[in-house]
Amino acid sequence: MFFKTKSPEETKKIADTIAKRFFAKEKIFLLSGELGAGKTTFIQGFAKALGIKDKIISPTFVLIRQHKVPKIKKVLFHIDLYRIENFENLGLNDLIADENAVLIIEWAEKLHMQLPKNTVKINITKISEKERGIKVSY
Ligand code: ADP
Ligand code: MG
Repeated sequence: MFFKTKSPEETKKIADTIAKRFFAKEKIFLLSGELGAGKTTFIQGFAKALGIKDKIISPTFVLIRQHKVPKIKKVLFHIDLYRIENFENLGLNDLIADENAVLIIEWAEKLHMQLPKNTVKINITKISEKERGIKVSY
């Protein structure tokens, strides 16, 4: 699947579509793309689609922020690997094993590990100042 967007609002709308289509059956959403591509913007639209009202900010210093998904048992874990140094302390394997955890990961390029089958890859590329290409694949 490939989308083109011309604004942050449009990127959030695409994220809404992706969330509604894939959230229920997938476990991990990997976001890749350069700084300022729109990964966090995408996650804002994604979280909103799930009914999450928390403010979604880049968890660059915290690494992981968690958001309860309203009305269901699931928790969305927003992970940013930009500054990660020690993957062992991240507890990623525990989160993958947790059936109620859904992971959305920025800077997935940095992740070099075997992931479950139900992983969706989202790559955002900058085309111009306001234009972005969003590629969604398995
Ligand atoms: P990342 O998390 O990939 O570093 P952010 O989502 O934090 O990126 O930032 C993206 C920046 O690009 C924001 O300042 C946003 O306003 C801007 N922007 C411009 N056009 C778009 C677009 N089409 N989609 C997403 N962000 C855009
Ligand atoms: Mg970000």
